[in-house]
Amino acid sequence: MTDIAIIGGGPAGLTAAIYASRAGKSVTVYEKESFGGQIVFSPLVENYPGIAHISGEDYAALLTAQAEALGVKLENGEVTALRKASDTFAITVDGSVVDARAVILATGVAHKGLGLPGEADLIGCGLSFCAVCDGPFCAGQDAAVIGGGDTALQDAIFLSGICRSVTLIHRRDSFRAEKRLVEKASSQGNIHFLYDTVAEEYLTEDGSVTGLRLRNVKTGESFTKPFDGIFLAVGQKPQNDFLHGAAAVDPEGYLYSDETALTGTAGIFAAGDCRTKDVRQLTTAVGDGACAAIAACRYLDR
Ligand code: NAP
Repeated sequence: MTDIAIIGGGPAGLTAAIYASRAGKSVTVYEKESFGGQIVFSPLVENYPGIAHISGEDYAALLTAQAEALGVKLENGEVTALRKASDTFAITVDGSVVDARAVILATGVAHKGLGLPGEADLIGCGLSFCAVCDGPFCAGQDAAVIGGGDTALQDAIFLSGICRSVTLIHRRDSFRAEKRLVEKASSQGNIHFLYDTVAEEYLTEDGSVTGLRLRNVKTGESFTKPFDGIFLAVGQKPQNDFLHGAAAVDPEGYLYSDETALTGTAGIFAAGDCRTKDVRQLTTAVGDGACAAIAACRYLDR
């Protein structure tokens, strides 16, 4: 039995693993996709203290290697159930049950879509959640980014370096993204801004995206625009459905917790974007990971 099972191998989960392992606990991290979490999709991280510039992918690789070097067990597998069994926890991973004395939930968030018809089938056929991964397929062509947060602005800036043009489509007339990102995007000659505009339909040909039907929400005008690639950056949602009440979540599905990392269930701790919080940043995720590991170690040593 492992001392601490960590569900989710993003910055919060891997930081928790580093802290707990250095505190002498046996630690296993379960990750259903790639280790590193959502940060791997960030083209450039420029706000991590002590590191002026690093790609999300490189940062994730460093963090993963650091955890592995400390003896953390990294397991690829999807956790589908978590159950308290007297003083320990039973975790179902890819259909098999493993045990742990404490659990840290660092399940992160998943991309939201627009919910337009055909969306699921178009992912990978001109529609993408990841500018870093799929931007090169659009090299020299015309791309659209939908959203007005940090991700949308970062994606647009990244794509402006490889695409002929980037159209940033936002449903309001001001961005919630960091001012510095907005200024940088505005200074790129090939980023065009479409404000007060929503996407109403994906235009397709032979199963691939060819453009968008758009509507100006102020004038009501509906129009179409051709695009070779469309990148969705309209926010994220938690992935805690598998808990089925093992730890309490708010109406949106985020785990009730704060910087103490405590959840409503003794022995289960929460860290990172998956918990209720105001600021979801790389720095706050790693901070949460440290707090959760310390809280879990105290719980085990009690
Ligand atoms: P976000 O901040 O939630 O922004 C989502 C954007 O999508 C908003 O502008 C929102 O519009 C728009 N949107 C939502 N639903 C929509 C819909 N149905 N149709 C059209 N537009 C829609 O998401 P995010 O940009 O992915 O960022 C998530 C978190 O990660 C944030 O806390 C962010 O600060 C952080 N992050 C930080 C960095 C960094 O470098 N510092 C980089 C990436 C992400 P409204 O503005 O009108 O609501």
